[in-house]
Amino acid sequence: MKSLLSKSLLSLVAAVLFVGCAALRTSSTPSSNVIQASIDLVGIEDDKVEITITPPPMKVESTVFYIPQIVPGTYEYSNFGRFVEDVKAFDKKGNEMELISLDQNSWEIVKPKKLAKISYKVNDTFDGPDGQEIYPMGGTDFQEGEVYLLNLHSMIGYFEEMKESSYKLSVSSPKDLEAFTSLPARSTSDSLDVFNAERYFHIIDNPILYSKPNAVSFDLDEIKVGLAIYSPSDVHQATDYQPAIEEMMKAQKAFLGDANDTPSYDILLHLMNMDALQYFGGMMGALEHHTSTTVVFVDAMGAGELTQSLVDVVSHEFFHTLTPLNVHSEEIHNFEYNRPLMSQHLWMYEGTTEYFANLFQINQGLIDAPDFYNRMMEKITLAQRYDDTMSFTEMSAGIVDEPYQANYGNVYQKGALINMCLDILIREKSGGSKGILWVMKNLAEKYGKEKPFKDEDLIPEIVAMTYPEVGAFFETHLVGTAPIDYDTYFAKVGLINGEVDSPLRSIIFANSTQLFFSPQPNAEGELQFVVNQLNASIEAMGMQVGDVLLGMEGERFPEINQENGGKINALLTPSIRWEANKIISFTVARDGEELELSGKVGTPTATAKGLLEDPAAAESTVELRKAWLYN
Ligand SMILES: [Zn+2]
Repeated sequence: MKSLLSKSLLSLVAAVLFVGCAALRTSSTPSSNVIQASIDLVGIEDDKVEITITPPPMKVESTVFYIPQIVPGTYEYSNFGRFVEDVKAFDKKGNEMELISLDQNSWEIVKPKKLAKISYKVNDTFDGPDGQEIYPMGGTDFQEGEVYLLNLHSMIGYFEEMKESSYKLSVSSPKDLEAFTSLPARSTSDSLDVFNAERYFHIIDNPILYSKPNAVSFDLDEIKVGLAIYSPSDVHQATDYQPAIEEMMKAQKAFLGDANDTPSYDILLHLMNMDALQYFGGMMGALEHHTSTTVVFVDAMGAGELTQSLVDVVSHEFFHTLTPLNVHSEEIHNFEYNRPLMSQHLWMYEGTTEYFANLFQINQGLIDAPDFYNRMMEKITLAQRYDDTMSFTEMSAGIVDEPYQANYGNVYQKGALINMCLDILIREKSGGSKGILWVMKNLAEKYGKEKPFKDEDLIPEIVAMTYPEVGAFFETHLVGTAPIDYDTYFAKVGLINGEVDSPLRSIIFANSTQLFFSPQPNAEGELQFVVNQLNASIEAMGMQVGDVLLGMEGERFPEINQENGGKINALLTPSIRWEANKIISFTVARDGEELELSGKVGTPTATAKGLLEDPAAAESTVELRKAWLYN
C-alpha cells in the first residue's frame, strides 16, 4: 500500500480482455464445488447493494461465514463486517434459517447441511458510517448509475475451511457502465458480467471499477498494461496519462530486469471529489495487488500534479510485484483474514518497495540527483513524527495494535531510509557492484510467488549472502532500537549537509509539510492567517512575513474556525493544480492597509536543509555514489 495525505484495468479494452480470459480460464473447476456470489448494482436501494452467496452443498455440522477483519497490504483492522447488514440464511425451500452473529465479522450457520444461500446488504465505505476509517483505496464507493468502486473484500465473504473453493461472481450492472478489472471474465454483456475467481484470495486480489468508458491499454515489452480512470468532472482522460505511465513502467522494467515477469498490470484510478477527500481527512493513495492496483486521488489535481503522483504511487505499487508478492513470509502466504498474524518484515514489504519507487527514478533518469536527495531528506524529516527508538521488527509483528499501529506510517519513511543505508553499505563492501536490488533479485529467484520464507530466517539469510556489517546493521538498527545516524551513510557516498532550493507542492507551502501562513489570534482574540515563512514565488509577488492573509483569487476567507474548515479548504485546494504560468493574486493586510499582491505561480521553492555533493570528496567516494545511484 502507499498512502499519502493531500496519489484499471488499465485495462485492456474490456471486451478484448474478457474474451481472451474467458477462453483461457472457464473450463477447469467442476461447478459443483463452486461458490456462487452475485452483486446487484442495478437494484441498489438506500445506497446499499444486495449480495447473495450460494455455496455448494455442505456436509459439515456447523460452519461460519466471514467477512474479512483485515486484508493483505493494509496492516490494520478494517472489520469490513461493519458495512454488512441484514445477513440472512435460507434453506432450499426459501425458509429463513437460524444464524448466530458471533461478532462484527462472522456469522455461525447452525445447520449448514440445509443451507441454500446467504443474502445481505452492503454499505459503501465512501459515505457509510465508519467509512472514513477505511483507506479509500481499499474501500467501496457506490454512486448510483455513475460509478462503483468494488474492493470485494468489503462485499464478498467466505465460509470456514472453504477459502480455497473457487467462486463464480455475477454482477448485474447499469448498461452504460463498464467493468475494469484484472479478474478473468467468463462472459460479459450490457447488464451482466460473470467472473471467475480460483479461490477467495482472488476475490480480494482483483478489485473492479465500474464507470463510463475511459481507459487505455498498451503493450510494453512482455507486459500488457491497462489504465482506467473515473473522473467525476471528465477532465482527466486515460489517454492523456498513457505516455507518463508508459515511460515509468518501461523504466521500472529496465530497473528490475529479469526480476519481473508480471504478464499484465491494470491500474484502476478512482478520482474522488473534494467532499470525499475531506471525508477521508485528505487521505489518498493506492493498494497493491498481484496484477493490478487501485489508486484513489482527488479530481481537483492538475494534470502535472496528477502525473507525478501517479508516477510516485503506481511505481510503488508495481514494485510490490517484487515484495511481498514474490518475496514473502508464511504469515503473508497463508493470510488469515480474521486472525491476523503479522510478519516482522515491513521494513522490506513497504520499505524496500518505497525506496525502489524513488531509486528507480534517478537510476533511469526520470528525476535528477538533487531531487532524489531532497526526497530522502524529506523522509528523514517525516520520520521524526514517529518513535525512532522502536524496534522495526517488533513494530512490524505487532503492527495491528498500539503502540505499533500509530507508527505504521514510518514504514514509508524510515522503512525506505533503512533500505537506503543497507544499499549504501552493501555497495561499499562490494566495491560498488552489489546493492539491495541484487539482494532482492536473489530472494525472488529462490522464493517466488508460491514459496514463502520462514519469518525468522530472512535476516540471517540476507546476512549470509552479504557481509557481517549488514548483520550488525540489522542487529543495531532494525531488531535493535538505536536510531540511525544518516550522515554516516551519506558521508560514504560524498554527500554533506547544506542549504538547497527545495521544490514545494504548491505556492501555499513554505516547506514540505507547512503552509506559508498559520492561524494566530489578533488583539481581539480572533484568528487570522499570518504569514510566517516565505517561498520564492510569493516573495517575488511582494509578500512579507507578518502580512495578514485575507483571501486569494478575489475571494475572502470566512471567519477562521472549525466550522468553516471546509470552506477554507475549498479556497486553498485549487492551488495544487495551478500551473507555473498562471497569474494569481492574494489579498493581504499590512500596517492597517489592504493590498492586492499578484504574480506568476512559477515554480515555488524554499530554502531548506538539504544534501550537497561534497566537492572535496575522494574519487573513490564519487565512484561509489555513482554506483549507488546509477548501477
Ligand atoms: Zn505499499
